Amino acid sequence: MIISESANIINSLGIESKTKYSIEIINEDDFEELEVFLKNNKLPILFLGEGTNIIPPNFFNGVVIRSFCKNINFRKDINILTVDSGVNWHELVKFCVSNNINGFENLSLIPGSVGAAPIQNIGAYGAEISTLIDSINYFDINTHELKTIENHECNFEYRNSSLKNNSFFITSINFKTNLANNINYEYKSIKSFIDKNSIDKNSLSISSLSNIVCDIRSSILPDPNKIFNAGSFFKNPIVKKSDISYSFFKSDNLITWEVDKTYVKVGAARLIELVKDKIIPSDNVSIYKNHSLVLVTNGRATQTEILAFARQIQELISKFFNINLEIEPTVIK
Ligand SMILES: Cc1cc2nc3c(=O)[nH]c(=O)nc-3n(C[C@H](O)[C@H](O)[C@H](O)COP(=O)(O)OP(=O)(O)OC[C@H]3O[C@@H](n4cnc5c(N)ncnc54)[C@H](O)[C@@H]3O)c2cc1C
Repeated sequence: MIISESANIINSLGIESKTKYSIEIINEDDFEELEVFLKNNKLPILFLGEGTNIIPPNFFNGVVIRSFCKNINFRKDINILTVDSGVNWHELVKFCVSNNINGFENLSLIPGSVGAAPIQNIGAYGAEISTLIDSINYFDINTHELKTIENHECNFEYRNSSLKNNSFFITSINFKTNLANNINYEYKSIKSFIDKNSIDKNSLSISSLSNIVCDIRSSILPDPNKIFNAGSFFKNPIVKKSDISYSFFKSDNLITWEVDKTYVKVGAARLIELVKDKIIPSDNVSIYKNHSLVLVTNGRATQTEILAFARQIQELISKFFNINLEIEPTVIK
């Protein structure tokens, strides 16, 4: 294990952020040493992957722990793929595509690490990681034990799980590799891409669907290596239909997906588009031109500035629609 003092906290919002200590886990033997370090340094702890879904402060007076373990072990006999938390998510998708393991292709090009992926149950284009997971291996920083949690114990839901704000440092994930061999092209934007490009649905493979998802994503989402952002900044709110206010806008201005008789999921990007002209511009934070749900920075924004800009949006959405927008990335205290 490698310990650094006063290290940078990497983050895709371009916030200049430092931590008192940073610890790199190189292999599982490091956890004994980590236990001793944590007993001697009773400080707040932050688990970090690639920093694409966090909003860190200028200084974190604590210990950042990151996994640099990057093994992928495909056990064909038992249909399990065990992947270390330090592996990049899209590298795993590429591994699955080239080994003809289906289910991962709709989640192509989601930034970040494998270890962080179950925390908010990453999802896109009609798929969620929760359907792919068999179980998760972790080190509990409270009890200092290496343990395994089964899928059904993780309480996965839309952009959430019980792994969030937990004492479990994910070390590796066991994925199922024997899912039904369905190519899932039902998502609206995938369907329109197929129609627009006259692609024969019967010719679709795991690989071609992965390429389609990459093409769609690249056309609407900013590349975090080039433009500072954290992806969708707000969750699509799930609200009671009867609670939505239509005093200012008609219902057909909104994009909604039926959840059940009482609740709908509301497209947050459309809500923001409708109030965009009322937002007071900030020096260092703005709304991405191709996607209103994405906030971008010029690399000089602080956590305070970003949260103030977000609060403005939340207040407008609350005033005009009586809807509370929840921030999706983890705000580090
Ligand atoms: C351009 C862009 C597009 C995106 N698109 C999507 C999308 O389509 N769908 C989607 O769901 N998300 C999307 N995201 C969000 C992000 O990619 C995911 O949340 C991703 O899983 C974050 O990975 P990370 O390694 O960067 O996590 P980090 O930002 O480093 O951490 C995120 C959270 O996970 C925790 N964590 C990290 N590693 C561990 C670990 N080993 N054990 C326990 N906890 C850990 C952290 O404490 C933090 O709470 C997007 C982000 C960007 C920038």
